[in-house]
Amino acid sequence: MSDYQETIFDRIIAGEIPCHKVYEDEQVFAFLDIGPLSEGHTLVLPREKKAFLHELSEEAAAGLGRALPKLCRAVKEATGAEAYNVLVNSGESAGQVVMHVHLHIIPKFPDTGFKMGWNAGKLDDERAERLVGRIRSNITES
Ligand code: AMP
Repeated sequence: MSDYQETIFDRIIAGEIPCHKVYEDEQVFAFLDIGPLSEGHTLVLPREKKAFLHELSEEAAAGLGRALPKLCRAVKEATGAEAYNVLVNSGESAGQVVMHVHLHIIPKFPDTGFKMGWNAGKLDDERAERLVGRIRSNITES
């Protein structure tokens, strides 16, 4: 757990702070976001105390992966949204405020939901191959 500092989400999971709980199992805890971008905006957390997605154990990640599709399905059905975004802000400069891993499920409606800026560049083949080499050589087990 090294330099992990307890967050408000740990207190929610522990039942010390109330939330609108949607789901829990051995690995995962999910509740409604208190500042929703749209109706049904849900946060999905591993119980494991890690700040960033890349720090998660395989077990915690597998638990998240197992729960995510059924939670997306449930939120979509419950809200009637045709579409949704799943978002992870990882790191302060990427917009992360609470330093306990969490995924946002954000239903998309005509006027509400996640509004993204997507300034696409162009992938250069040579750079891409060098990059692929570096990424591949950095793939490690957690
Ligand atoms: P992020 O910017 O990805 O770290 O997102 C943190 C999210 O946690 C924000 O969307 C907040 O609205 C939400 N949040 C913070 N405190 C609470 C709380 N007590 N209950 C529910 N959601 C919360």
